[in-house]
Amino acid sequence: MKTEDVIELYDKYVMQTYARIPLVPVKAKGMKLKDLHQREFLDFFPGWAVSGLGHCHPKVVSAVRNQLKKIIHIPNNYYILQQAKLAKEIIDNSFEGKVFFCNSGAEAVESAVKLARAFGRPNRFEIISMEKSFHGRTLAALALTGQKKYQEGFEPMPEGFKSVEFANIEALKSAITSKTCAVIIEPIQGEGGINVAPKEYLEAVRKLCDGKNILLIFDEIQTGMGRTGKIFCYQHFGVVPDAFVLAKSLGGGIPIGALVAGKKVCDVLKPGMHASTFGGSPIACSAGLAVFKAIREENLLQNAAEKSRYLAGKLNQLKQKYNFIKEIRGLGLMIGIELSIEGKKIVDLCFERGLLINCTQGNILRIMPALGVKKKEIDKMLAIIEKVFSDVIK
Ligand SMILES: *Cc1c(COP(=O)(O)O)cnc(C)c1O
Repeated sequence: MKTEDVIELYDKYVMQTYARIPLVPVKAKGMKLKDLHQREFLDFFPGWAVSGLGHCHPKVVSAVRNQLKKIIHIPNNYYILQQAKLAKEIIDNSFEGKVFFCNSGAEAVESAVKLARAFGRPNRFEIISMEKSFHGRTLAALALTGQKKYQEGFEPMPEGFKSVEFANIEALKSAITSKTCAVIIEPIQGEGGINVAPKEYLEAVRKLCDGKNILLIFDEIQTGMGRTGKIFCYQHFGVVPDAFVLAKSLGGGIPIGALVAGKKVCDVLKPGMHASTFGGSPIACSAGLAVFKAIREENLLQNAAEKSRYLAGKLNQLKQKYNFIKEIRGLGLMIGIELSIEGKKIVDLCFERGLLINCTQGNILRIMPALGVKKKEIDKMLAIIEKVFSDVIK
């Protein structure tokens, strides 16, 4: 089969819900990815932040393989050994509380919405999110997503959701009513363009929520699991949420989502109030355990922080040279390059030269390499991107 043949099958049989790049990856390891024609790519956006350890990390592969041989699925009316262990691991790395497992980011967000509403009963149900946020595509997650373009055509949105300007405490203050039960924030907006929340803002939000007994929920689906150089991004700010959600790289590539709730709310959901058939399966949880193990044993947080400094330094040098680069921002290995020109063209040219990166919001390049990325891989990436930048201005 050729790429064109696969595209033809898609045209006939797969719903056209994505704008796809004509690439059929068939094999990958670490930062490298091969397609159907044995073309090799350097992947600086592995799995849309899902493959946070890089592709097919050996610890994940062997954990999943071992688990497959024992038992694949266990329903949640029994106890799942790996789920218990992964919940403990997440809590040991965050704060006292409990975890609910599901299968994706949107489902984790939905779980957080239900937790917030259960907490707010009987009078409070409103949840406030941020403009330019992204929380997923199911209806409640979509209602929280503060970008009209995703909601258009699917109205009416469910009731009880509104969004306010990101990093504007006054806007949040005036949006809160007697019906508000929670505020949800990405500590760094990913899809919104790598917008880092100011520490003072998060501190002010925390204070505001505490004063009115409103839950503060962080969406760490993209920022979690070491992406920013700490295991969870909130740890950079010293602002502890009441609950947070995880997905993407938690399973090292295997689908998994999680709602992590602190002491105050971890027993709000009672038997029968929420469930997920596949949630916290032995396969997904053994993958999650392997991810934590790899981060710890391979010093990946330290590597992410070190390589972040190196990469940001080099990108800032490029900024001096190319005046269409407006800003380099982010934390750890979650890096945005804001351009004053269209980003798609840059992404396409990088693709032609064997480098995979992403562009969001039209003009912000998004770079999120594996936490274990090596200096020589960064240098190779920089060489390609610089070549592309210099081609573009010609
Ligand atoms: C990707 C993402 C989601 C949605 O996750 P899905 O698994 O696609 O449902 C939600 N929030 C954030 C911050 C994300 O990056």
